[in-house]
Amino acid sequence: MDDDYMTRLSEATGLRRYQPREYKVEMIGDAVVGVKDCYIVAAGQSDENEMRILVRFQPGVDESAFESAIKNISVESGRDLDLEFGIADMDDEKPQPTDSISVIWRFHLSRPEPKRVADLLVTIIEHVKKLARPLEQRCEVCFSSLVSGLTLRNGTPRYYCLSCQASEIQRLNKEVLEYERQVREPASYLKAVVYGLTAALLTSIVASYLGSFLEGGWLATASFIGTGALIYPVYYAITKTGL
Ligand SMILES: [Zn+2]
Repeated sequence: MDDDYMTRLSEATGLRRYQPREYKVEMIGDAVVGVKDCYIVAAGQSDENEMRILVRFQPGVDESAFESAIKNISVESGRDLDLEFGIADMDDEKPQPTDSISVIWRFHLSRPEPKRVADLLVTIIEHVKKLARPLEQRCEVCFSSLVSGLTLRNGTPRYYCLSCQASEIQRLNKEVLEYERQVREPASYLKAVVYGLTAALLTSIVASYLGSFLEGGWLATASFIGTGALIYPVYYAITKTGL
């Protein structure tokens, strides 16, 4: 998406703009992200003819109520709107209930004016207010730390405390190191390649998993650890196998 459009979208919505590098899930370009009326929200273009608005809230909602609300907005406004439900997946062990919606606005010919996207966002929030409570400003993993800013985790803006981020980076890096160790003793050419690729994949996960919206340092740290770990196993796999 072009600069001018995103700047105007940011101004119209009052949300901060993030580059695609930081915010990638479902958005093909930049996105504007922030908190509005206590709800975590994001907006951006998700396809050639699609704008997408994300709203996150406390889980445990009546999905059919959301479906009819969005259908009503669609009919009243004459906009072609679609609805998707999302989950935060903060805990891979347990299935999580719905805690977000994405409203997809399909447009024809030209992209909607930023002001119209901002108006739609306001309308959506007005409806969401009746159906779900906003998330508390607490870390969504440990539920104990109060969190002031948003963090991008696995493509979704969340409340995520620094101490939980640190342990996650540590855990992911441990997995990378374990693969590196196995690369040092590859039993075969194929294994070396597989380990190298897996380590690279894990590393890219480390690098892209966490991008802090407010604490720029964390993004830099994650990328730094990630890049270093990426080069090493790939290099090792290549030198070991004599490629
Ligand atoms: Zn935490």
